[in-house]
Amino acid sequence: MVSILPTDHPADQILSSRHYLPAGDRAPNQTLLPLTAAVNAQDHLVIGGCDVPELVQQFGSPLYILDESTLRTACRQYRQAFKRYYPGEALTVYASKAWSCLAVCAIATQEGLGIDVVSGGELHTALQAGAAAEQIYFHGNNKSLDELQMGLEAGCRIVVDNWYELRSLTQLTAQMNQTATILLRLTPGIECHTHEYIRTGHIDSKFGFDPEQLEPVFAYVSQQSGLRCIGLHAHIGSQIFELQPHQDLGAVMIQWFQQAIRHGLPITELDIGGGLGICYTEADDPPSIEAWVQTVARGIADACAAADLALPRLLCEPGRSLIGSACVTAYTVGSQKTVPGIRDYLAVDGGMSDNPRPITYQSSYRVLAADRMSAALSQTVTLAGKHCESGDVIIPSAALPELEAGAVVVVAATGAYNYSMASNYNRVPRPAAVLVNRGEAQLILRRETLADLVRQDCLPAALNPSKLR
Ligand SMILES: *Cc1c(COP(=O)(O)O)cnc(C)c1O
Repeated sequence: MVSILPTDHPADQILSSRHYLPAGDRAPNQTLLPLTAAVNAQDHLVIGGCDVPELVQQFGSPLYILDESTLRTACRQYRQAFKRYYPGEALTVYASKAWSCLAVCAIATQEGLGIDVVSGGELHTALQAGAAAEQIYFHGNNKSLDELQMGLEAGCRIVVDNWYELRSLTQLTAQMNQTATILLRLTPGIECHTHEYIRTGHIDSKFGFDPEQLEPVFAYVSQQSGLRCIGLHAHIGSQIFELQPHQDLGAVMIQWFQQAIRHGLPITELDIGGGLGICYTEADDPPSIEAWVQTVARGIADACAAADLALPRLLCEPGRSLIGSACVTAYTVGSQKTVPGIRDYLAVDGGMSDNPRPITYQSSYRVLAADRMSAALSQTVTLAGKHCESGDVIIPSAALPELEAGAVVVVAATGAYNYSMASNYNRVPRPAAVLVNRGEAQLILRRETLADLVRQDCLPAALNPSKLR
């Protein structure tokens, strides 16, 4: 339960922000902070060799700070573990919905990962970042005809989710005189909750074909000359801490795989999805990337051996466990308010617009005093955002030292589903993001300006303020 802490500091003894620093030999998904996190002589948090309060001075606040080395380490751990534990070919595919931007897609591509996209926008970003089309997997349960056409023109793999898409693709490939390379997404009937999972024959999910429908789907696909079905895909959920569900999924998918072969489909790939969890607080205890890959790879290899099957090309699609803990969000402290006998509020200059996870999923986070890392955590506050919404609370009960307005705090593990889910609620500009490594910081997302906020606005002539006057 105390996986992110040094052994001499159990979870109930987090005395200062310093105690959240990574300890021991942990995988990137098992630490709260990026692997390079440290404290300097000024008692400031340092990430990627950069002083965090100085970064805020230079690039403004709030600021996403992405540690290049943690992200690359996570990419490498997936690839190396597949090399070690899977005797066949394997590909790790970055689920870019976790954080889609040019720099992140370029790093994943450089590390030899494929990119999973779920919209024309993410596809465009991956292509612009230099991802090779045959390493791009296009997901989504309602891709538009334009998006399907874009995928076909790019030559990426299309993960077909439903009958509507199958028929649309059949028509499109005929019109375009092209062949689509596809995978079929299936609903495995394995659903993960935080600490349990259930199996049912028919699961209520908006994603994927019902496994009961496999026979007609395979029969249809095998008759379409425009569709080349090379693989099967399933994704069972996210922020999963157990290994068993993925082991079970492998076994189920091997049965489907055999069924597809019986239909004569040219099938070679199994894509087992993503879902490995990370540490948002010291209570989270996910298995390492290596342990997860080992379980998945062994499961598939053993099932193939038992069924006398050639090994498929094995794919997985992590998002959160690649980038979640590689990033922190720095905020500046502003107003504080005491409601006597109830709570103390401490407000920062961001909130639900840059991190919508607490208000959407009641997600837990930890906050650190980035300019007083060794100060005793002497108060419990409600860390509030600046938005006009009572629920805009980042952390309901956060331990911090006494802080003055202007202090810099950092919320940890904000790499996944933060920037990518950010909004302009209250017309708050989205923050900048910097990539840090070896003491250097490079801008990867410019801070939005007020001009950016009205860029798409159109003013009908009669409403022009100069005429109204
Ligand atoms: C969301 C998603 C992923 C990534 O999930 P993580 O929990 O971030 O690893 C992978 N594949 C599919 C199809 C998804 O929808």
